[in-house]
Amino acid sequence: MSFGDFFAKRMKRSIEKNMQKSTMTEENIREALKEIRLTLLEADVNVEVAKELTQRIKEKALGGYINEGVNAQQQMVKLVHDELVTILGESLSPIDLTKKPTTILLVGLQGSGKTTTANKLANLLKKKEKKKPLLVGLDIYRPGAIDQLKELGAASGIPVFEQGTQDPRKTAKQALAFAEKNGHDLIIFDTAGRLQIDKPLMEELNDLRKITSPSETLLVVDGMSGQEIINVTNEFNKLLKLTGVIITKLDGDARGGATLSIRYLTNLPIKFIGEGEGPKALAAFYPKRMADRLLG
Ligand code: GDP
Repeated sequence: MSFGDFFAKRMKRSIEKNMQKSTMTEENIREALKEIRLTLLEADVNVEVAKELTQRIKEKALGGYINEGVNAQQQMVKLVHDELVTILGESLSPIDLTKKPTTILLVGLQGSGKTTTANKLANLLKKKEKKKPLLVGLDIYRPGAIDQLKELGAASGIPVFEQGTQDPRKTAKQALAFAEKNGHDLIIFDTAGRLQIDKPLMEELNDLRKITSPSETLLVVDGMSGQEIINVTNEFNKLLKLTGVIITKLDGDARGGATLSIRYLTNLPIKFIGEGEGPKALAAFYPKRMADRLLG
């Protein structure tokens, strides 16, 4: 069962069970909130976020929000929905396309889905923004990463610039020159990842940031990550000044809640979500749509 389905089912049950009376009372509000909090925690939403969310709902529910004419369940669903939207970031956070060419640095831990996402993002912006993308393979450490990018690019008709295991700083510079010569107005750099953050990698990424002066530096995070992803995000952000996050693998049976807490805890917008392995399985992140999904 996917994260959205799991969450929606549990959330619905928490609300329906406790809000059987047509009106909201202090007692049923408290009971419902207890279960809503548990559902959030079970979905691996960060404790602090779950607390904040239920607190806000409680304040609104007890503080005169109650509307006599409207069914209690519906009111509670709306309250939860509104607060989820707030936690998730309110509105769409689009890619900054003002700089010509637009340069996007994708960073993240190994296996988070960077290479797959680089190709998906190129496909999406080619179609939606009529961009002429160039993919650049800079992951020289993971065996097969560059070949994987080349295969993905070839299947989508998107050129891939790579120089094998040459120093990625040099390759990045050459890629910028290549893009200019060949009229590419979007360059997506697929950088190396590690299983954990280490200093040499962060130095390399920082150098790449200076070389490419990215329009966007996006952290790709695995939707199956646990709470440690918050620290990982903070570490990357400290050095690289991230502009946003992409969450992958939300199609799987991940609990997903940890990554959905990123916005509230780090203030970084979630820009896209990955929902499959195919080249089209990437969608712009709309907090409202996600909240709709989380409430079935
Ligand atoms: P990288 O090491 O960060 O470059 O990670 P990869 O791009 O190689 O992805 C690791 C694995 O996750 C691959 O098998 C991908 O096909 C898979 N993957 C990436 N994004 C998604 C997604 O949104 N959904 C699913 N189901 N699998 C994904």
